[in-house]
Amino acid sequence: MHAMVLKELGAALEWTDLAGRQPGTGEIRVKVAACGVCRTDLHVVDGELPDPKVPIVPGHEIVGRIDMIGAGVEGLRVGERVGVPWLGHTCGSCPYCLGGQENLCDRPLFTGYTRDGGFATATVADARYAFPLGEVGDDVALAPLLCAGLIGWRSLGIAGVGKKLGLYGFGAAAHIVAQVAKWQGRSVFAFTRPGDVSTQAFARRLGATWAGGSDEMPPEPLDAAIIFATVGDLVPLALKAVRKGGRVVCAGIHMSDIPSFPYRLLWEERQLVSVANLRRQDGIDFLSLAPEIGIVTHTTTYPLNRANQALADLRAGRFEGAAVLVP
Ligand SMILES: [Zn+2]
Ligand SMILES: [Zn+2]
Repeated sequence: MHAMVLKELGAALEWTDLAGRQPGTGEIRVKVAACGVCRTDLHVVDGELPDPKVPIVPGHEIVGRIDMIGAGVEGLRVGERVGVPWLGHTCGSCPYCLGGQENLCDRPLFTGYTRDGGFATATVADARYAFPLGEVGDDVALAPLLCAGLIGWRSLGIAGVGKKLGLYGFGAAAHIVAQVAKWQGRSVFAFTRPGDVSTQAFARRLGATWAGGSDEMPPEPLDAAIIFATVGDLVPLALKAVRKGGRVVCAGIHMSDIPSFPYRLLWEERQLVSVANLRRQDGIDFLSLAPEIGIVTHTTTYPLNRANQALADLRAGRFEGAAVLVP
């Protein structure tokens, strides 16, 4: 198998031969058909996350077919299409795992960060963390659902049931969440970089009620807002945009520092929370609903060996929706 490997933090990924990887007990090997590129991959490459494993194969939005099954794996078969998400393993015995919060496990492994991921022709995954995807939908179109979609779904649940929903940062995750929120009968208010009229138009095409710059106030107070952008300055702006009792959800794994802000922005029972990782049940719930919702993902594909270009284009915001690598 071949992979685009990060050998040193901050360096370009290198095309590398990784011959003969076999699934161990409880693992499967997946021939990769498509792997989405997520902002978290940029954080991994840039060394912005603690305790990275290097060298590492990034990529945690994997769609592929099982081509080998290790000992002790039940309920999966060779040839089956599966998705491999960010949460790659949990310990099953820490207080969080035992308390139904496996997303906060004390000893987790994350795909493409602390275990090798999907910027490769094949990958080895813990079978318990692979989701059967069925045969509906195209491999490339499904890939962004595995992180952008899943984290968006989890964030949407944590945002509550309010009808007026703000989305700060309209990239891969928001373009999926906007469709889910609309299907749920909510109104979406999309915030982009000030002056980014093309992304604002993209948001309106996906059904946003209103789209504007993050420096603008929405036309009416929001029930909740989700921040997907990695910009801490957005936190006080989002708090200002939500009503009394409203909630602001930070969905990113990394964010620049949040500036100090007057207490009155939090007063009146506004809430500020973050969302970390996913639970397998989030994946099962979301992936079973996705065909019914009729989510259309907007993707830009790159050949696997152009992964560095895909990362650079993501960093520069040069495409709408999500980038997907195809081996
Ligand atoms: Zn645990
Ligand atoms: Zn991700």
